Amino acid sequence: MLSTMDTVTLETAKNTPLMGHFIHGEICFSENGETFDNVNPATGQVIGQVSLGGRREMDQAIVSAKKAFEQGEWSRLPMKERCQYLKKMGDLILEHQETLAMMETRDTGKPYQESLNGDVPRSASNFHFFADYAQSLQETCFTLNENERHFAVREPLGVVGLITPWNLPLYLSSWKIAPALAMGNTVVLKPAEWTPSTAFMLGLIAREAGLPPGVLNVVHGFGPESAGEALTRHPDVKAISFTGETTTGKTIMKAAADSLKKVSFELGGKGANILFEDADLDKALGACVHSAFRNQGQICLAGSRLYVHESLYEEVVSQLTERIKAIRVGNPMDSNTTMGAVISKEHMEKVLSYMPVAHQDGQVVLGGKRLEQLPAEFLKGCFIEPTLVTEVQNHSRLIQEEIFGPILPVVSFKDENEVVTMVNDTKYGLSASVWSRDVNRCHRVSRALQMGIVWVNCWFARDLRTPFGGKKASGVGREGGRYSLEFFSDAKAICYRYE
Ligand code: NAD
Repeated sequence: MLSTMDTVTLETAKNTPLMGHFIHGEICFSENGETFDNVNPATGQVIGQVSLGGRREMDQAIVSAKKAFEQGEWSRLPMKERCQYLKKMGDLILEHQETLAMMETRDTGKPYQESLNGDVPRSASNFHFFADYAQSLQETCFTLNENERHFAVREPLGVVGLITPWNLPLYLSSWKIAPALAMGNTVVLKPAEWTPSTAFMLGLIAREAGLPPGVLNVVHGFGPESAGEALTRHPDVKAISFTGETTTGKTIMKAAADSLKKVSFELGGKGANILFEDADLDKALGACVHSAFRNQGQICLAGSRLYVHESLYEEVVSQLTERIKAIRVGNPMDSNTTMGAVISKEHMEKVLSYMPVAHQDGQVVLGGKRLEQLPAEFLKGCFIEPTLVTEVQNHSRLIQEEIFGPILPVVSFKDENEVVTMVNDTKYGLSASVWSRDVNRCHRVSRALQMGIVWVNCWFARDLRTPFGGKKASGVGREGGRYSLEFFSDAKAICYRYE
């Protein structure tokens, strides 16, 4: 049995020096006592320890989830009642919004205001939305003749594994947990090793909301040869919903193949903004800057490449320069800060490795290096200057690769056909925004783009009922609304014959 410590509460969790797993309704620690550091990327300081889970801890969590599923206390509960628990979880997130926002900012380096006004309420609304929406899921009955009724019903899968990345930790965990639980599954979550805190809180929130032990479990650890891989290989796990890098998705697909798990993958992206000559420039440029630099450029949907019609090019570059200069990078807890630190030293080095490419493949108009003019407290932090690179060609690595940082390369185009070809010419197919006042053109271009999501004259607007996911190397399957509910359940036919 793992050692447990159950004095931590939602109120005291933020000060706990050692975060444990959440298994069978209890906080517990790895048997071998191994831990890893939780580092604040804005200061470079170790802020606590996290219990390092491996196969043994994952096995325990899966045994607990399987037992909870089979006992039926959750899986056979009427949907309406399960949804009451989800609502409660959403309410508890809002009740503890300041603590959650602070913990999210401490783990990720993102501005506190963004955590408080973006990530946290959106996470609560994931629970509230699925609590309502799941109850509207329709089951069908077909009548072939008077004494036969054919029902198409949906059933939970059993134990499902959720693996989440570090860029939107609470948001993406809640995006998966809520529909998985709504459909009656029991869950094992493996959060990203860089961002354990809000996942730790979710365990406590589940307990406070009264979920039976084993219904939601959280195991911390790394990916390969660690907790993540153990989850993907376990024969009792029926499905894996994964968000992360494309290469990791490929590895997980192979690991999941042995036990024929269902998989849903939300992978990398290289979002494009396309500015036609008749775009509303003021609106478009505001959104382009926001979409490129929000969350330090670490969003799969980020507008991380910008295509500008040649007639606007100079004007756009000049206006973009002024707007990007207005971004305030620094202390994430300061309410005036609009850009914080990137997630880690390793990631900062990866992003900075693109700066020589930027100098070689274009003109670095702004930024181009690590930000060093900061108060002493942040000198070891992972801050990068917002970087604008113009005169970039489509084949450049700046356009073709997911940098996942605050670098915006700009490409000029002549006409609609050329820009559609260029935007489609990467391995990714997640998202794009089209900016034009010509509704016919918007319609043509949004159909021609090989993307899972296209925005017209906007960015990041979401109705949670719509499909979310990517084409090509950006994903497998769709989440959101009924797509999530269908992924987390099996369809079954039942036929009644009456005498
Ligand atoms: P990552 O793939 O390195 O890690 C994601 C998660 O997978 C982590 O929890 C990690 O521990 C785990 N993991 C890693 N290797 C594993 C393995 N072999 N088996 C099981 N688990 C493993 O991704 P990241 O760096 O945390 O996140 C950034 C990436 O996520 C970017 O590529 C970004 O585009 C993508 N992302 C996509 C979406 C989307 O909806 N399409 C949303 C957010 C982020």
